[in-house]
Amino acid sequence: MKFRNFKLTGYVVYGNGSFDQLGEIIAPKRKDNAPMIFFVDEYFRDKPDFLNRIPLEGQDKIVIIDVTHEPKTTYVDKLRDELTAAFGTVSGIIGIGGGSVMDMAKAVSLMMSNPGSSADYQGWDLVKVPGVYKVGVPTISGTGAEVSRTCVLTGPTRKLGMNSDYTVYDQILLDPSLTASVPVNQRFYTAMDCYIHCVESLTGTYLNAFSKSYGEKAQELCEEIFLQKNNWDSDSDEKLMMASYAGGMSIAYSQVGVAHAVSYGLSYLLGTKHGIGNCIVFDKLEEYYPEGVAKFKEMVKKHNIDIPQHITKGLTDAQFDTMINVSLGMAPLWENALGKDWKEKIDAKKLRALYERL
Ligand code: NAD
Ligand code: ZN
Repeated sequence: MKFRNFKLTGYVVYGNGSFDQLGEIIAPKRKDNAPMIFFVDEYFRDKPDFLNRIPLEGQDKIVIIDVTHEPKTTYVDKLRDELTAAFGTVSGIIGIGGGSVMDMAKAVSLMMSNPGSSADYQGWDLVKVPGVYKVGVPTISGTGAEVSRTCVLTGPTRKLGMNSDYTVYDQILLDPSLTASVPVNQRFYTAMDCYIHCVESLTGTYLNAFSKSYGEKAQELCEEIFLQKNNWDSDSDEKLMMASYAGGMSIAYSQVGVAHAVSYGLSYLLGTKHGIGNCIVFDKLEEYYPEGVAKFKEMVKKHNIDIPQHITKGLTDAQFDTMINVSLGMAPLWENALGKDWKEKIDAKKLRALYERL
């Protein structure tokens, strides 16, 4: 097909306090004797006031998700095996947390009905049957994982998402008040994932009016809350949650660019997390995104954020080569950023020089 035909999220609820409506929303999706499973970010492990708001019934279960590392196929398969052994099937999976939990809930939902290992489905449109009902409740804003058609997983041979129409959430619940507790640095790193999505989409060669409309709005919201406002308040949480949503919609119909291509290499070799990795790279991309990087630096300064430096110091030639190969393997990202003749504009030598500056 010449034009992409995008599957969107089924239902969306938005508003402070909307989390307390979750029980009512999922009630019609409950099947006899099959529990709802709540994947909850480990941050909430010792927060009984929050855990008590989860609408548990019958055999429903809370599974605390370890987010020390970004989601791995082995972790997805293990949770699927445990749920299948305990319950046979489940009515649905509700992911409550940051981008890592968003992706874990999507992946396990799919693996409840697709045979084999999640590693078999890393790629494009390899998932053939829908998963169980799934709901996404983000508790940090920025990744856009709540609206995307992928869930990024690290597998035995590569870091790649299960990209498919079935990956999209059936329902999302956007309650900005859930994000109020995110620490300042983390909030910034994840928010900048959104800001960088916008810059990469808006300056990319894949841009069209659909992507542009969402990207401009998301970028405007980020600049308002991080540059124009002087205090962080509930209005900022509300706007950042909508920026994340719009940023995700923007890249759905375009693509990310240089920051993501380079940061994937860091993440593959060093395990650098997505949000902070993008910031480390974007900080050095003035050649590709002069305006975006200048504004980013202003935001870093204004919010007194710590951007790690010299993280590639002392790496071997082989290690640099690994990062370079992972990065150059992301052809659509480079093509979006630099055009069809991208191979004439970026090569291993130039990329090595960039990695050495990080
Ligand atoms: P994260 O999910 O790793 O969470 C960051 C930290 O914030 C964690 O320590 C978590 O416990 C904590 N946290 C979560 N909610 C909190 C709250 N309300 N208060 C206090 N602390 C809280 O980080 P992230 O940046 O949200 O997500 C990164 C992940 O998202 C990566 O795995 C990346 O690959 C993935 N991602 C996916 C997509 C997609 O389209 N599927 C897009 C971008 C990124
Ligand atoms: Zn991203």
